[in-house]
Amino acid sequence: MTMTANEIRDSFKKFFESKQHAIVPSAPMVIKDDPTLMFTNAGMNQWKDIILGTRDPEPRRRADTQKCLRVSGKHNDLEEVGHDTYHHTMFEMLGNWSFGDYFKEGAIDMAWEYLVDVLKLNPADLYVTVFEGSPEENIPRDDEAARYWAKHVPEDHIINGNKHDNFWEMGDTGPCGPCSEIHVDSRTPEQRRQSGISGRDLVNKDDPQVIEIWNLVFMQFNRKADGSLEKLSMNVIDTGMGFERLVRMLQGKHSNYDTDIFQPIIKAEEQLTGLKYTTFEEEDQSNQNNQNNQNNQNTQNNINVAMRVCADHLRAVSFSIADGQLPSNAKAGYVIRRILRRAVRYAYTFLDQKDGFLYKLVPTLVSEMGDAFPELKAQQQLITKVIKEEEESFLRTLDKGIALLDKAMEELKSNGKSELDGVQAFRLFDTYGFPLDLTELICRENGFTVDEVQFNAEMQKQKERARNAAAVENSDWTELQAGEQQFVGYDYTEYSCHILRYRKVTQKKNEFYELVLDYTPFYGEMGGQVGDCGVLVNENETIDIIDTKRENNQSIHIVKKLPNDPTAEFMACVDTDKRDASAANHTATHLLDYALKQVLGDHVEQKGSLVSPNTLRFDFSHFQKVTDEELRQVERMVNDMIRQDIPLDEHRDMPFDEAKQLGAIALFGEKYGDKVRVVRFGPSCEFCGGIHASSTGRIGFFRIISESSVAAGIRRIEAKTGRDCEELMYQIEDTLKAVKSFFNNAKDLEAVIRKYIEEHDAMKKDIESFQAQAVERAKEQLLSKARDINGVKVVNTVLPIEPQLAKDLAFKIRQSQPDHLLCVIGSVYQQKPLLTIMLSDDMVSEHQLNAGQIIREAAKLIQGGGGGQPHYAQAGGKNADGLSAAIDKAIELANL
Ligand code: ATP
Ligand code: MG
Repeated sequence: MTMTANEIRDSFKKFFESKQHAIVPSAPMVIKDDPTLMFTNAGMNQWKDIILGTRDPEPRRRADTQKCLRVSGKHNDLEEVGHDTYHHTMFEMLGNWSFGDYFKEGAIDMAWEYLVDVLKLNPADLYVTVFEGSPEENIPRDDEAARYWAKHVPEDHIINGNKHDNFWEMGDTGPCGPCSEIHVDSRTPEQRRQSGISGRDLVNKDDPQVIEIWNLVFMQFNRKADGSLEKLSMNVIDTGMGFERLVRMLQGKHSNYDTDIFQPIIKAEEQLTGLKYTTFEEEDQSNQNNQNNQNNQNTQNNINVAMRVCADHLRAVSFSIADGQLPSNAKAGYVIRRILRRAVRYAYTFLDQKDGFLYKLVPTLVSEMGDAFPELKAQQQLITKVIKEEEESFLRTLDKGIALLDKAMEELKSNGKSELDGVQAFRLFDTYGFPLDLTELICRENGFTVDEVQFNAEMQKQKERARNAAAVENSDWTELQAGEQQFVGYDYTEYSCHILRYRKVTQKKNEFYELVLDYTPFYGEMGGQVGDCGVLVNENETIDIIDTKRENNQSIHIVKKLPNDPTAEFMACVDTDKRDASAANHTATHLLDYALKQVLGDHVEQKGSLVSPNTLRFDFSHFQKVTDEELRQVERMVNDMIRQDIPLDEHRDMPFDEAKQLGAIALFGEKYGDKVRVVRFGPSCEFCGGIHASSTGRIGFFRIISESSVAAGIRRIEAKTGRDCEELMYQIEDTLKAVKSFFNNAKDLEAVIRKYIEEHDAMKKDIESFQAQAVERAKEQLLSKARDINGVKVVNTVLPIEPQLAKDLAFKIRQSQPDHLLCVIGSVYQQKPLLTIMLSDDMVSEHQLNAGQIIREAAKLIQGGGGGQPHYAQAGGKNADGLSAAIDKAIELANL
């Protein structure tokens, strides 16, 4: 009997549990505390600090299924997704780890046992690769791995692989080592017969039916900044197997999309679009029958690709939103936005979806995956709302882009050209999200081509700009003392310490040093709370710590210069004014979170926050504007809790489950260990690693200063506390005092201002009506004084009126004199001259006059320029003395 995807996932966990592995949860897909990586792209990401030796490796055997996203940086599969049937943007990676426990032999034996003995894959279909070695780096072939494989597979199933495929590196520097991949030949017997090529020769050749499913990485080296390798102090096994690919093999399918992971979503797409998806078998069949003509096949292929793209991207975007990363126009948010837009574009072009479409698939996704990933279920409403709004706004942009492209093509046509230039194509890409293929498609349909070379050159230029802006160079760490850092900042703001290691960082010509101390009271930026600053001092010197970051579970202190004696003992002293202010703001966000849930409801989820000495920003899910009344209620509740002066109740190493039982609120998309810290102020109880006030009274006072929308379904509150509130109050008071003094310190200020506004409105109306009367009178006068030149009424004058009135006047005159009219008005307003020309229609059609052309010439005499339509034009200038000459010139140019 075929196993379902859910059963296969469970069987993996069960197998490794039976091999003494601790089964751990997936880390969030969106990474929040690593400046070098935006998204989890492999199972090992969450163990980076263990591998780097900054975190306790126990338990040494672990296994999990990890949500991964490969759309940026080193691993970017985005362009493949949908076109092939085995790369996804988001996928699950099944993995097992050994941190200094078993090594190559154990990993190889277990992988084999699981695939062949437990899952019953046919060993004849399996091929493995081993690292061929690198003479220039002096690394021999991985004979050791080959020897262990030879226990299970014949020699001709073991293939040498090069550095690109078979040597894994964490980054430019850091842990690395050879790896061994397991590939499966899943071709049908028919395909094998037809091709006549053995599976062995198709490994790592991009054949869609001979694909890698599992990679076993053997970390045994550490690469230094100069490129050389040294032995790693602890050998690490890191394996990753594509879950979707495994399921496909076990369900006997030839496409990941034909498995029960994707079919329900694809069925929903079929229903919504009325189009049909063809599975691998159906496609194969129809190719063989060859009944369909080429055109039909292309259309069907486009539909298939589009449906795969939408099914895949729906998952990536939904999981990302559930993890707290919403589409936006910067960094990780922009990556998500681009994925979503790619799906919208395919649905728009090939599935004929001109309105939002993806959001309608959310219920299917949630019913399929919501049990294994409860974060989806809990946030279904938010996910739907965000996707819908993103889709709609992008569809509007698409429309705008298409209009722009239409105009560009029209211009090409009128200039007799057939190629759209690459700069324009790039602009469409950059501002309207039009990838080159869409622009090309639309152009082709209209008989145009696109300058691809220039487009690519523009793209290259932009990439270089981005690279230069982001370039960071790290030198190797200089070790002064071995050991791990101890954070003592929950209890101390001063502590005696030594520097364990330091390194130099160069970023855009800016140089600084990063220090790791043995003991530190400095809090490194995390969870929205900024890092501490302060000093390192001893009797000989004082070094400013300008910021503290957090990386791999430790505080990294940023300093502009190294101490003269880096090995000396120092006192590390935190700037407590700043720290207290941040702490008060942080505690206030907890109270705010609590109060929002009380006032607005349980759907309120924290979606981000920023706390610094002067900022308190809190983002949360809520689906409409928070009313003024609700905001006041929230403020009152928070201030009540401040006055109760509730003491901090902190639990540092509480087991995760116990914390949950206590009712502590965990955030979706956060990574928590087995032991967590819980911060409680009365009824407010949260998982939190931040620095807090010792009691709520320390906050002093809390005031909301703004409430706004940051994205669909997400609101933002900004607030002030303590001393900042005091300042805010003084500012308000000062403004009010100033306003009162304008009104002679009137007692009832509101009434006085209202009266002023009413008077102002009435006066404005009066002025407008006087002006209208004046225009009317001027019109009568001008018409009665008009000259007659060869049957044409010529009206000309200079008046001290504003531009709008000159225009009104010209139109009024034309109304009264609809034929044979040339009207030239000069006006001066605030010392600036203005020329207005009005012609009756017959002067344009019969006399071939053009007001725009006349004014361009005449306005030169007032040192100005302007233009307009054939019958009406206005031009401003600088030289008022030239007005009458300009009027004469205009009449002369009319050549009556
Ligand atoms: P490929 O060459 O097929 O892109 P890879 O070498 O990039 O694979 P690894 O980085 O070794 O793959 O990742 C481990 C496993 O994760 C692979 O063996 C594969 O099963 C799976 N995998 C990798 N990329 C994807 C993806 N984009 N979608 C689905 N599964 C993937
Ligand atoms: Mg890859």
